[in-house]
Amino acid sequence: RRFYFVDESPPGVADAFDVAAIRRDFPILRDKVNGRPLIWLDNAATTQKPQVVIDRLAHYYTHENSNIHRAAHTLAARSTEAYEHARETVAEVLGAGDSRTIVFTRGATEAINLVAETWGRHNVRAGDEIVVSHLEHHSNIVPWQRLAESTGAVLKVAPIDDDGQLRLDAYEDLLNHRTRLVAIAHVSNALGTVVPVAEVIAAAHRVGAVVLVDGAQAVAHLPVDLRALDADFYAFSGHKVFAPTGVGVLYGKPELLAAMPPWQGGGNMIDDVTFERTTYRPPPNRFEAGTGTIADAIALGTALDYLRGLDLGSVERYEHGLLDHATRQLGTVPGLRLIGTAPEKAAVLSFTVDGHDPVDLARSLDQGGIAVRAGHHCAQPALRRFGLEASVRASLSLYNTYEEVDALTAELHKLAG
Ligand code: PLP
Repeated sequence: RRFYFVDESPPGVADAFDVAAIRRDFPILRDKVNGRPLIWLDNAATTQKPQVVIDRLAHYYTHENSNIHRAAHTLAARSTEAYEHARETVAEVLGAGDSRTIVFTRGATEAINLVAETWGRHNVRAGDEIVVSHLEHHSNIVPWQRLAESTGAVLKVAPIDDDGQLRLDAYEDLLNHRTRLVAIAHVSNALGTVVPVAEVIAAAHRVGAVVLVDGAQAVAHLPVDLRALDADFYAFSGHKVFAPTGVGVLYGKPELLAAMPPWQGGGNMIDDVTFERTTYRPPPNRFEAGTGTIADAIALGTALDYLRGLDLGSVERYEHGLLDHATRQLGTVPGLRLIGTAPEKAAVLSFTVDGHDPVDLARSLDQGGIAVRAGHHCAQPALRRFGLEASVRASLSLYNTYEEVDALTAELHKLAG
């Protein structure tokens, strides 16, 4: 067993993080790709799954498979209980308080669209303003753009500086009595910048605006306490936190969810239906029309339990050390330009290498078993801010090691040389 000691721990209380033990929990990390051990550095796109999550899915389909809420038989009771238990786990891990604030969706994208289509259409009028940042993923731009187009509202963009940090002063200057909503990433998927969302939220609240935080890149990397942040809405995807694809979460403050009309209509979300009039269930069920991704939601609860068991504070410190190491190592590669150099960063290294196409670099790295992403990372405005259409992105997670970072660096030295 090998322990890594986190750089920043105070003297005498070095924080041991047993990455070798963690790696054993993830079966895919024992796989080979192109004859080489897999080095998975595409965690911002999706994370790998620990055995407990894979087992939980199998257990559900082996022993519990049933639709929820409807039938009066034993399997329905089992699946309903497991599904609601997962909702409680999500609420606990995010510090949401009441599990009725947690709506299961298909992912962060659907969660954001749900808010745009329900809260947005109900509250945003011509001349109102919606503020996003220059860092956003397309899924936190396009729904607001569409809302603005259909309502006559105006989309404003808070700028970032050359390090990829939100310019808080310029952001605050954008806020006024017409600002209805601020939609902001907690962590940038393209650059890794950690946005000071508590300050962003407090400033928005001072002008009476509601804030949606896109936490897709945050939940796997840092502790999130929704009530301490005072976020109005918070969205994330299960597959980026070691859970299956197809499930995500929208958190909403109880009074906001209660005042929102439904989005999709169908089974599960109704209280009573006649041809003349339908009444709806209270949140969260009002927003969960039809049969949801029951097994995946249950496994999301398992994934968050797993993460909580590792202690998110230790995860954050370990990843911070790894990121510092990676930043120093990549700095030795000739012609490598790192984009996103904010002091507050999480787990992402976005870069170009002079004279090399990012996609070609990613393909060459793949020959060595190293998976990185190349392209615009669904954040074209953020990359264009740095004059780029594409970059290579190595994104780290709690199971990545210093040796893997060294292997990436060695390959890049060969390719750049
Ligand atoms: N927001 C951010 C910051 C992301 O990184 C992503 C995915 O890359 C999303 C939203 C969308 O997540 P999903 O495609 O799982 O809905």
